[in-house]
Amino acid sequence: MSVLPKSIRKLIEELSRLPGIGPKTASRLAFFILRQNPSDREQLARALTDLTGSVKFCQRCYNLAERELCGICADGSRDQNLICVVEEPLDVVALEQGNTFRGVYHVLGGVISPIDGVGPEQLQVSTLLGRIRNMAGQNVEVVITTNPSLEGEATARYVARELKKIGDLKITRIAHGLPIGADIEYADELTIAKAMEGRRDYG
Ligand code: ZN
Repeated sequence: MSVLPKSIRKLIEELSRLPGIGPKTASRLAFFILRQNPSDREQLARALTDLTGSVKFCQRCYNLAERELCGICADGSRDQNLICVVEEPLDVVALEQGNTFRGVYHVLGGVISPIDGVGPEQLQVSTLLGRIRNMAGQNVEVVITTNPSLEGEATARYVARELKKIGDLKITRIAHGLPIGADIEYADELTIAKAMEGRRDYG
């Protein structure tokens, strides 16, 4: 590798930090990028640079946003008292495709996973609890929509337990129309709509 120019070595190093990209794939991608014409390369570079500054997290739900609030929180026609708790922004994208959910979201930013050193304090759990506390007496329903994986279930139980301490709200869990181990992110619209419709009391 040391025979390669430093700039290419650096690119390979950065690419191999991406999930699912080993050193071999990183090298292939780096040489592909190198062979591209300069304007295509420029576009890729600009897309990466533009991420910094233009994309932030919604101050209410922690979904991706371009302003202080994301498009969903800012939409006055959405039911602000029906809050769907998901793991990642991509889950919001999947749930929105069904076009049936009229509530809003709270994005945890992952799941509780002691092996990876992720506890509740690394996630947007306290912001969720604070948000719900501020909505006392408003007939709130929280639909816990983490994935049906081991970590997703453990996270659902933890969040439900903490929410229950606040009291005065309805806690539900998305129905298990989703196959065990399946990611919400990859579920089709009909499965998601059915799972949401069949949600039941939880915790
Ligand atoms: Zn939002």
